[in-house]
Amino acid sequence: MTIQQSTETLKQSATPQAAPGAPTFKSRHPETQALHGGSFRFDPTTGAVAVPIYQTTYQLLGTEGADKLFALEAAGHLYTRVSNPTQDAFEQRLAELEGGAAALAVSSGQAASAFAILNVARAGDNVVSAAGLYGGTWALFAATLKSFGVETRFVDAADPEAFARATDDRTRAYYAEALPNPKLEVFPIAEVAAIGRRFGIPLIVDNTAAPVIIRPLDHGAAIIVYSATKYIGGHGTSIGGAIVDGGNFPWAEVRERQPNINEPDPSYQGKTWVEKAEAIAFQLIQGLETLPLRLRQHNENAIKIADYLKAHPNVSNVVFPKFQRGVAAERAAKYFKSGSYGALVGFELKGGREAGRRFIDALQLFYHIANIGDARSLAIHPSTTTHSQLSAEDQLATGVTPGYVRLSIGIEHPDDLIADLAQAIDAA
Ligand code: PLP
Repeated sequence: MTIQQSTETLKQSATPQAAPGAPTFKSRHPETQALHGGSFRFDPTTGAVAVPIYQTTYQLLGTEGADKLFALEAAGHLYTRVSNPTQDAFEQRLAELEGGAAALAVSSGQAASAFAILNVARAGDNVVSAAGLYGGTWALFAATLKSFGVETRFVDAADPEAFARATDDRTRAYYAEALPNPKLEVFPIAEVAAIGRRFGIPLIVDNTAAPVIIRPLDHGAAIIVYSATKYIGGHGTSIGGAIVDGGNFPWAEVRERQPNINEPDPSYQGKTWVEKAEAIAFQLIQGLETLPLRLRQHNENAIKIADYLKAHPNVSNVVFPKFQRGVAAERAAKYFKSGSYGALVGFELKGGREAGRRFIDALQLFYHIANIGDARSLAIHPSTTTHSQLSAEDQLATGVTPGYVRLSIGIEHPDDLIADLAQAIDAA
């Protein structure tokens, strides 16, 4: 093969996602999108169907080609911190699954929420966030971003108008979790997104606990963030995160409200981002491919287990969207895909804190793990673990009572899960 011939081959294979034979078939079903979404069909050089791990730098195709790439006038890969074909395939597939315009894979869920905020807020700006947050996100907002000069104003999501009341002319984003645990009350996405749009403020939704079964972009959210460590990876083997842009927010029409996106960026040749909008990922792709299938089993199992706990004489309280009343029940019915309530189940034993701890120690099948969304079933006592960095008062504000136990229901046979819970409750 001559150098010219190999350069031609290289040019053709430089963007495997645009392979000849790339599918034109587009599905709206999540089960199919998770396997076939995005433009990757197979690697044109090798025929590989599983997205290969491209752990590499890239040969720039001529100086003119390089000029265009660096000026962001041509699509392509120039350096893996900026983009990478394996990540690109994951990002495209996730964006399609969510009904978004594009996605960015990052190193963790924590990085996804930090980047989503830092993209729009500078020192002196503020964000209004629902108070019901994962403890690590709470700490990121209340302490780390605060030290950068970005203030977070925490409000009670039960009242959507609280977001409007906390807004001033330096508010750049609204933030919430779609299914915040431990309370498991679905966030009023459409209501708060509409308030934000009145002011030119995007709603960022952390959908970690409800992929596939809640679709925030359909209800007006502008951006979704994920800890892909959870259901997307699905096996607790990889830390990862993602930001999905809905492509549905009028950034250019809200110039004064959103200066970061609309003013020239001195860190990249004075580009204005509103005009440029366009290896762990390998592991996460494996998880993503079976995500809708797993979610179905997670959901079915969770309903059986929540029903079992609710009927158990030693259990004083079960937190599960199926049992909610009033506004919380209306929101669950509005936002969950029909028949789904997610797979997080919270409960309290009549024996309180000590019984909760004895229960955890007695489990034989459930793992005692600080995670959610694993194919395996997991249990934890939040007050002494995930939420231990919060004061007793803040714990109660986020819904963590001293005896509360959180289960993340996996995809094992439900009878085995119930048998393990039964013996551990007896032992508590
Ligand atoms: N968001 C939610 C709802 C979480 O539960 C977590 C982690 O537990 C995160 C974000 C942070 O994600 P990661 O651990 O991938 O940084």
